[in-house]
Amino acid sequence: MPDDHASKTRTYGFSTRMSHAGRAGTHVHGFVNPGVHRGSTVLFPNSAARRDGAKHRFEQFMTYGTQGGPTHYALEDVIAEIEGGTRAMILGTGLAAVAVPLMAWLKAGDHCLMPDSAYGPARNLCEGLLKGWGVETTYYDPTVDEAGMAALIRPNTRVVYTESPGSHTFEVQDIPAIARAAHARGCKVMMDNTWGIHHFMPFTHGVDVSIQALTKYVGGHSDVLLGSATVNSEEDWKVLRGAGSQLGQYASPDDCWLALRGVRTMNVRLKRQEASGIEVARWLSARPEVLRVMHPALPEHPQHDLWKRDFTGSCSLFGVVFQPRYAIEDVYRFIDALALFGIGASWGGFESLAIATTGNITRTAGSGDFGGPMARIHIGLEDPADLIADLEQGLARLTG
Ligand SMILES: *Cc1c(COP(=O)(O)O)cnc(C)c1O
Repeated sequence: MPDDHASKTRTYGFSTRMSHAGRAGTHVHGFVNPGVHRGSTVLFPNSAARRDGAKHRFEQFMTYGTQGGPTHYALEDVIAEIEGGTRAMILGTGLAAVAVPLMAWLKAGDHCLMPDSAYGPARNLCEGLLKGWGVETTYYDPTVDEAGMAALIRPNTRVVYTESPGSHTFEVQDIPAIARAAHARGCKVMMDNTWGIHHFMPFTHGVDVSIQALTKYVGGHSDVLLGSATVNSEEDWKVLRGAGSQLGQYASPDDCWLALRGVRTMNVRLKRQEASGIEVARWLSARPEVLRVMHPALPEHPQHDLWKRDFTGSCSLFGVVFQPRYAIEDVYRFIDALALFGIGASWGGFESLAIATTGNITRTAGSGDFGGPMARIHIGLEDPADLIADLEQGLARLTG
């Protein structure tokens, strides 16, 4: 009988668990899916029950809608299942899921280590509010090894943030090595695991707080913004949930319901998009206009061996570096010529996207020169042969 906790044993395959986790069981009139529970006020039969209500869910106050409701809890359970952690907090956007853990663990006088390849808005937070609050951030080479990380940690370093592979440039990080160095000095290890989804198990690789933009493949249809932060200990949960509550963080139950709907088909979409992504990436890497394709699953990727060691698969987002003879204006012309690729941010939906990335990304730990002008490609659920034909006619426009 499917119920909310049937999947907790984690002995079933991923698709089985994604079919059974976070379901309504038989207690919602027998309907398969949890309903959308909207609400601010939570009623109790009497005052004593209201006092005890505070103990119901995770010993947090469950006396008001801001603490979430049954729709949130179902999604929290599914995300904890995907990440292999104990508890997940759902937030209104992926960026909120980046911001809340950083704000939860950093205070005035602390030092934070960020990979140079971190998601741009995470860098903005470090350079904006966090800097104003007296938190200093150092950006490090994402390919740092254990000794290199140990050398970067200062007495006041509190958080070692990671994102693997990195935004736009797709460097795979040696998370276990980084986590060993961080934990030896008492730092929290955070990771943006949006690209890895369920292909990277954060807690078995030393991560303390794992972040996902559910906006991407979990939502899967470019119609919802949502994020999650997952932890694997009761102590970390108290810090994370406490910060979320203090900051008044909340996600719409309608959006949670859309994410629950998305997650049921996620693995089918992901498998198809992974295969199409690799097919298109391979085709592009053989083109004379292309210097290299930044896709960790391709054997020529500089950290392919790390990816193979730590990941069980890939998603369909990757980067392309064009030959240095091209200018960024040539890349714009290529992108504008594409018929099947939308020109826009985000990824993980059913539709293909392409954007030029040169000039859009900040790098301070490295030179920021990756050999030529760059683009980022997201492969959707279209037929790969059609996508390749479209890219081929687009490449013909590179030289004007
Ligand atoms: C998109 C994205 C986010 C933020 O997600 P939003 O829901 O758009 O705020 C965070 N991290 C990574 C790596 C992303 O690509």
